[in-house]
Amino acid sequence: MAALRASRVIRSIVTCGLRAQSSQATATSPKSKSAAGYSFELTDEQKEFQATARKFAREEIIPVAAQYDQTGEYPVPLIKKAWELGLMNTHIPESCGGLGLGTFDACVITEELAYGCTGVQTAVEANSLGQMPVIIAGNEQQQKKYLGRMTEEPIMCAYCVTEPGAGSDVAGLKTRAEKKGDEYIINGQKMWITNGGKANWYFLLARSDPDPKTPASKAFTGFIVEADSPGVHIGRKELNMGQRCSDTRGIVFEDVRIPKENVLLGEGAGFKIAMGAFDKTRPPVAAGAVGLAQRALDEATRYAMERKTFGKVLAEHQAVSFMLAEMAMKVELSRLAYQKAAWDIDVGRRNTYYASIAKAYAGDIANQVASDAVQIFGGNGFNSEYPVEKLMRDAKIYQIYEGTAQIQRVIIVREHIAKFKG
Ligand SMILES: Cc1cc2nc3c(=O)[nH]c(=O)nc-3n(C[C@H](O)[C@H](O)[C@H](O)COP(=O)(O)OP(=O)(O)OC[C@H]3O[C@@H](n4cnc5c(N)ncnc54)[C@H](O)[C@@H]3O)c2cc1C
Repeated sequence: MAALRASRVIRSIVTCGLRAQSSQATATSPKSKSAAGYSFELTDEQKEFQATARKFAREEIIPVAAQYDQTGEYPVPLIKKAWELGLMNTHIPESCGGLGLGTFDACVITEELAYGCTGVQTAVEANSLGQMPVIIAGNEQQQKKYLGRMTEEPIMCAYCVTEPGAGSDVAGLKTRAEKKGDEYIINGQKMWITNGGKANWYFLLARSDPDPKTPASKAFTGFIVEADSPGVHIGRKELNMGQRCSDTRGIVFEDVRIPKENVLLGEGAGFKIAMGAFDKTRPPVAAGAVGLAQRALDEATRYAMERKTFGKVLAEHQAVSFMLAEMAMKVELSRLAYQKAAWDIDVGRRNTYYASIAKAYAGDIANQVASDAVQIFGGNGFNSEYPVEKLMRDAKIYQIYEGTAQIQRVIIVREHIAKFKG
């Protein structure tokens, strides 16, 4: 009941916001309004989302983040609360009982959650990644069944693409899907799956055409798989460098039978669906990296204004103050980068180029800013009694998951060069 009440609160904010926008839209259509230029002001409803997420992160996530990091325990109470507040699954369409928020709105929320703890934020964000193929390619029945379920209780899903032998090179996946009658039989192994041991269902990418000459764009099929299907073997929770309360696992699929109703879009369409999801999920990943970087900057600034050396506070030493200035520049620019990428996709433009720029840049600066924060803390920065060593460990994954820093550059330059080919 509490959940319903809370989600109604957010829903009424959304509805009021949409109503307000549609009354303004009488003079100009939303499209021409968007095309008229940027607004650097959040809407009232976005400010509400931000305030709700900020309060939750600061009052409920931050006080327990170090403990979850030390134990590696999955943060069930925080996830339940985030769900009750309407801070997760924000993309689920209204037709399935969700809020149907855009990517920009999701980014605003994600940045705040990440400020609190990116382990918690990654668990929440992995739901969006798992859901996205169903949102962009699922039929009405699939959406109602699998997305609708997630609006009724705080359950998780996962995106199962990476394998032990293939991460960046998605076309090299070996998991097979063989059609037998009205079913597909899946055999293979997935690796590094966030929420792998907690998911209720998976999006799974498997090779349905064994001919090595068939191009990736036709050789793979996307499936929805119930996590409790016979033949799904979930591996141990991996012990990672950072984001330790997030659940990362390998999963073996052994003769798993999937009804043909659970194929997304059609046989052979999987690669495009799996890759297409990133246009909507990379901006929030970048927003997560920005939340972490902002936290590192804030912690370092507070420390630099208190700690004295040579008779004055650190912030009064020019070398340290310039570090803070550099950190601030990076945080502000990476925020603009994810906002641009999110805005583009929300107004219906192809944003692959900007999504990769945002993800690559924000991932890099999160690492630089967290490392600089450790430096400003000196010896204390290297110790787990202070918050910044966790930030430095947590930051690294932003250069690896959802496409590494190098793969983002491969995409950026591909998109860039294409403009010159006309
Ligand atoms: C904590 C965690 C959570 C994850 N969550 C998920 C998830 O939920 N679902 C999922 O499907 N996957 C997930 N992943 C997998 C992640 O997306 C992959 O690890 C990532 O894409 C890199 O793949 P890889 O590990 O196989 O590295 P590889 O592809 O082997 O790359 C190794 C190195 O080589 C570089 N490299 C590779 N190819 C090129 C190239 N062409 N040019 C330049 N450099 C190159 C890479 O950038 C990297 O530095 C997760 C991983 C981790 C660690």
